[in-house]
Amino acid sequence: MTTLTCQTCHDPLIIPIEPDSDVEEQPACSSSSSSPQTVPDDLLLPCGCHFHWQCFLDLASTIYSSLRCPSCNAYLPSESAGSSSKPTNPQILTTYTNEGGVQPSLDLYPTLQEEAYLAANPSSRPARAFQSFASEGDVQGMVSVLRSLIEPDSDSEDDSNTPKLTPAEVLTYRDPLNNDKTALHLAIENRQEEAVWALLWLGSGAPTELFPPAVPAAAVGLGLPRRLEQGPIPVEEDVRFVRDGEGRTAGDLCLEIGEGWEKLVQGGLFMS
Ligand SMILES: [Zn+2]
Ligand SMILES: [Zn+2]
Repeated sequence: MTTLTCQTCHDPLIIPIEPDSDVEEQPACSSSSSSPQTVPDDLLLPCGCHFHWQCFLDLASTIYSSLRCPSCNAYLPSESAGSSSKPTNPQILTTYTNEGGVQPSLDLYPTLQEEAYLAANPSSRPARAFQSFASEGDVQGMVSVLRSLIEPDSDSEDDSNTPKLTPAEVLTYRDPLNNDKTALHLAIENRQEEAVWALLWLGSGAPTELFPPAVPAAAVGLGLPRRLEQGPIPVEEDVRFVRDGEGRTAGDLCLEIGEGWEKLVQGGLFMS
């Protein structure tokens, strides 16, 4: 029987686990310690071609523009059921097998879209990472992104030719792949209260006395000063007034959601 290989690099569809970066608590079977450990890494496209995940993503820009398999040239999106003429949201349904198991019907289109966008706009990477952290309520992650922008990189492996965004640009970044939402829109949508306060603290001119006392205390712990302390923040750089693709500010979104979020607006926090 033949071993399946990747259509790009022609290696078997497994990847080694690096022993040093293995963070699992339970040591693997001691008998296998001599041979290098591997895990499956098999992306199966609708056309039947197999790829390593990374080998496929390395070709994302090309694939995104043609929506064809880089190996056999088959058109990848599935027929969209019930759509009239042209597919507005194509789906590329794949089966991906990795360390975590099998993911059947994994739609690869959003991943391709994001990878193609990042390849064309590499400087947006920190802003997109910042938005993910904000959606998840990971304030430490958000702070680490902002720090990476203001600290001179010492041994960063990032391409130094990529211009860096400023912290203000990251705070007010509107995601063109997600209805022009900012980190603050996403944090509110996902009910991430801590992240919302952090964003208002770092990126708005809202008066300090309107914040719950815990917020300034936590901010001191994170070591990030309010930009407001260095001078007034222009309206266009204030996270409270950036509008999403539907023309909504973060305050509009609070009023729309309700559930108590409207109190932030009623308390005057969103008044310029
Ligand atoms: Zn490969
Ligand atoms: Zn193919």
